[in-house]
Amino acid sequence: ATPISTMIGVGKAAERGVLVRNGEALQTASRLTTLVVDKTGTLTEGKPRVTEAHFFSGTGLDGDEARLLGLVAALERGSEHPLASALVSYAQERIGDTAAETHDFTSITGGGVRAIDGDGRPLLLGNARLLEEAGVDLGAAAERATQWEKQARTVVYLAVGGELAALFGISDPLRHDTVEAVKRLQADGLRVVMLTGDNRHTAAAIAAELAIDDFRAGLLPEDKHAEIARLQGEGEVVGMVGDGINDAPALARADVGFAIGQGTDVAIESAGITLMRGSLHGVADAIEISRATLANIK
Ligand code: ADP
Ligand code: MG
Repeated sequence: ATPISTMIGVGKAAERGVLVRNGEALQTASRLTTLVVDKTGTLTEGKPRVTEAHFFSGTGLDGDEARLLGLVAALERGSEHPLASALVSYAQERIGDTAAETHDFTSITGGGVRAIDGDGRPLLLGNARLLEEAGVDLGAAAERATQWEKQARTVVYLAVGGELAALFGISDPLRHDTVEAVKRLQADGLRVVMLTGDNRHTAAAIAAELAIDDFRAGLLPEDKHAEIARLQGEGEVVGMVGDGINDAPALARADVGFAIGQGTDVAIESAGITLMRGSLHGVADAIEISRATLANIK
């Protein structure tokens, strides 16, 4: 496209809240064959809420929910993950501001958080992989967890002193227009692939709601990046949509990165296009405008 027609395209996109960093990003958008989409905060609202909880006894706290919630609040206060604010709100609604004393907090990317409580016991809060790697037996939770996951809940486990103490089901609804936007992108001829750090059952439930048959679950940030490189190696021209710090490497690697405008600064800085309305329709807008821009000069 000529510089002028590209500028006009960039302007049209801006009218729809789609901010294009440079003309090249808009031009490449017309050639995309595959669109890789992060789940949490991109397909979903990214405002998770705890909808289920179950507490086990036998941790020395005898199923004392308030004390376990105090540990959860203390652990997640230190984390910036969206799941952390869901858990902190849930705990606060029940126990107020009486969080426990903990120290030696660490956050594990794509896993959860850990700390030590006032009695010197190790605390671990996060996904199944994190707890299993630490040798925590999740057997007692398995049936309940699978049932919640099949309802598209993300399950977070709490272990105290190496023993399973509680599990939480967290719901993060799809954005109101995600189903329609995915259909539009597929109608535009794109292969839509969902990537997520969340577990396989939850991912499958969301993918089914969206009629996406291509998804990968349990991914670490470097895995998202590698998946894009792999698709590019197969000859695909790959767009990536994401919101999180975790998505930044993948956004930078993609042929065109699309950041959710309400997402993290790192994601926005790594992307060529920012979706100010936070809607996947913005990706379809960019692609359609890009194609029209190129068609005009022929
Ligand atoms: P996504 O790709 O879905 O945005 P992340 O890579 O951020 O996911 O996280 C992957 C998984 O790690 C989450 O689904 C959750 O199970 C777990 N996790 C990460 N951070 C936390 C935390 N602060 N508290 C509890 N669980 C966490
Ligand atoms: Mg995300």
